[in-house]
Amino acid sequence: MSDRSGAAEELAPPAAVGFIGLGQMGTPMAARLVQAGYEVKAFDLAESSRKNFETASGIPAAASAKAACREVTAVITMLPNGRIVREVLCGPTMNGALAGAAPGTCVIDMSSSSPIDTQALEQALRPLGFPLVDAPVSGGVKRATDGSLAIMAGGDPDAVNRIRPLLLAMGGSIFPTGPLGSGHAMKALNNYVSAAGLVAAAEAIIVGRRFGLDPAVIVDVLNASTGRNNSTEKKMKQQVLSGDFASGFAMALMTKDLHTAADIARHAGVAAPLADVCENLWAEADDKLGAGADHTEIYRYLAELEFETEDKP
Ligand code: NAD
Repeated sequence: MSDRSGAAEELAPPAAVGFIGLGQMGTPMAARLVQAGYEVKAFDLAESSRKNFETASGIPAAASAKAACREVTAVITMLPNGRIVREVLCGPTMNGALAGAAPGTCVIDMSSSSPIDTQALEQALRPLGFPLVDAPVSGGVKRATDGSLAIMAGGDPDAVNRIRPLLLAMGGSIFPTGPLGSGHAMKALNNYVSAAGLVAAAEAIIVGRRFGLDPAVIVDVLNASTGRNNSTEKKMKQQVLSGDFASGFAMALMTKDLHTAADIARHAGVAAPLADVCENLWAEADDKLGAGADHTEIYRYLAELEFETEDKP
């Protein structure tokens, strides 16, 4: 075990860091690390994502995931889910990206992965000498860009302390959440609360509109009243009433997070009826609206639902 103060210096700039997954979130996060003075070796499977990163950071992307893991102190993943994280890092026969990394390289999964996948990944990485921390984020593209993300960090406290300077280059607040997987569990639960709040606000607008209320007035009243939440403040006028539906967070990703949250409840043997309803509702909306839909389009899905009554002809 390394000593805390000395280890913290290891992850300060100009340490070399691998970064895999340069999508909506990964590109601004990796660009923050470049600005902070880290030597960033960043890779994404999609050429368009690599190009976006090169434009945002001013440095070239790495040639492969393996190249991004070579001669670095830490490897960050910011990928769609934990299954893909494992595929990329380990490959089918442990010949994935980490085959290029030296033992001791700290793996930090900042994706919103399932904590169950994360704990299984740790079992695979531990014998190879790669410490793992789960450090998912909240705040969306805007806060990824200005470096003020909320970061939930699960894992060995020494490892979390060691990577603190790195996390602080991307986030405004870091919450150590407990053992490995606890950050991912917290993230899924946060997104469940966020999704439920968005659905409630969307339904209130759809119902109020039908009743004859002005939707902008509905949002103003909610924001000055006890119904206020993150969606009423930051999504309803900006993304929904404007018709933009371009928050930068895909419906498929929210659907995955709701599945994770409901799954955690099932594993814990806890009844969470509203989480179950949300899980099903978002899965249906995701099926109907298809790939590429923004998560705020749950409003469009709800607005198009038919009200069924027994008297209906
Ligand atoms: P995104 O779809 O924009 O980006 C994912 C990137 O991963 C893409 O560029 C894709 O090409 C790349 N990728 C997929 N498979 C790959 C592979 N095998 N090898 C290399 N690259 C691969 O997603 P995002 O919105 O940036 O989200 C990333 C993660 O962060 C997700 O887990 C998401 O749930 C979470 N998250 C997103 C937001 C948000 O507002 N968008 C906020 C918080 C957390």
